[in-house]
Amino acid sequence: GFTFYYFKNLLDVDFIAQDVISKFDALYAEEPLIIRAPGRINLIGEHTDYNDGFVMPAAIDKEIVFAIAPSPDETSSIYSLSYSEFFYPNLKEPAPVTAPKWANYLLGVMRQLVDNGHTLKPFRCVFGGNIPAGSGLSSSAALETGFAFALNELNKLNIPTQKMIHMAQWAEHNYVGVKCGIMDQFASMMGADNKVILLDCRSLEYKYSPLKLDNYSIVLCNTGVKHSLVDSEYNTRRAECEQGVAILQRHYPEVKSLRDVTPEMVDKHKSEMPGKVYQRCFYVTSEIKRVQAAAFDLTNDDLEAFGRKMYETHEGLSSLYEVSCPELDFLVGQAKNAQILGSRMMGGGFGGCTINIVPNQQVESFISSATAAYKKAFNLDLIAYIVHVKSGTGLLKKSEKSAVGS
Ligand code: ADP
Ligand code: MG
Repeated sequence: GFTFYYFKNLLDVDFIAQDVISKFDALYAEEPLIIRAPGRINLIGEHTDYNDGFVMPAAIDKEIVFAIAPSPDETSSIYSLSYSEFFYPNLKEPAPVTAPKWANYLLGVMRQLVDNGHTLKPFRCVFGGNIPAGSGLSSSAALETGFAFALNELNKLNIPTQKMIHMAQWAEHNYVGVKCGIMDQFASMMGADNKVILLDCRSLEYKYSPLKLDNYSIVLCNTGVKHSLVDSEYNTRRAECEQGVAILQRHYPEVKSLRDVTPEMVDKHKSEMPGKVYQRCFYVTSEIKRVQAAAFDLTNDDLEAFGRKMYETHEGLSSLYEVSCPELDFLVGQAKNAQILGSRMMGGGFGGCTINIVPNQQVESFISSATAAYKKAFNLDLIAYIVHVKSGTGLLKKSEKSAVGS
């Protein structure tokens, strides 16, 4: 009936924007600019970005929305709808704070703008969103890119997009302490409707490739866990990759990173590699090749081959790179049993989501059986999302009032 279609056609982003705009209107009289910044998925290419390799991310229909307008006085304020709290930044000295944590993502962006010689005029901002935080969909990157975009618009700074991407990454590195690659900020900023981004993390050259899912859906299964190993193991992996590079450089002086290395070269020097260095390097070099081959699968409309590569990636991440966990392995196993086209853990590992390419007619049964099995095995509630590939960070619209007024 009517209600069904009504809700089906209203996008989540409209609800979020409504919430954000209503709150802004309740607090302030100015007309805000409205900015949308999405979270991201990564179809394939895991732990390749910091090895100068390839990744294949896409922006999705989970987002953070900002309403922002100049302040009538010298006070700047930011209101987080999700945390129901205000923060009053010092625009001249945007130093990091111990609380609230969410402010640091934004302060880091402000610091970059100031350090690049820009003067920010006082503003008022309200923001909120529906990207599940800490689940590997990069809500943090969306915060950074969205805010960089918002301040760039408000102050008419004309900063090139790539520069904003780097500013956002800088914020994450220096104000949050997460030494992430460039993928998350790049994808949140540069995403395009129904297209994946094939990104060369070394040169930042990129190519859009149509994602023709036809009778398939992208389903994310959120484990709801985040094992505390995440940060320390991430740093260990980076160090192990660097160790591998140093060993290979003795034989191949031209090698700068694992990007320049093939799995065959790694195999050849296996005996020189201590501890887990061999298996780490073998995974990364194989994965870099796999992403390139997967890009051909998309061009050839061969989703089945693409899906098989997702399983291979998971196998590598689980047994060679050792960044999976029982919950993620279990959910990929569920997908395999149900003969789902492709499934793998997504993101840094030790928790977060699996990404699955599921035939439309199987979506419901897959989610319900995985949910039941997950509950039984771990006594945890699985949360599944069906996501769509959407455009990147941009102006959404002015509020209805301004459209009428001007
Ligand atoms: P991920 O980027 O994978 O979602 P992170 O741990 O990097 O996970 O970032 C999550 C953090 O980002 C949250 O703890 C919170 O501080 C901030 N955050 C994410 N979404 C919002 C939001 N809608 N409002 C305020 N802060 C948010
Ligand atoms: Mg993050």
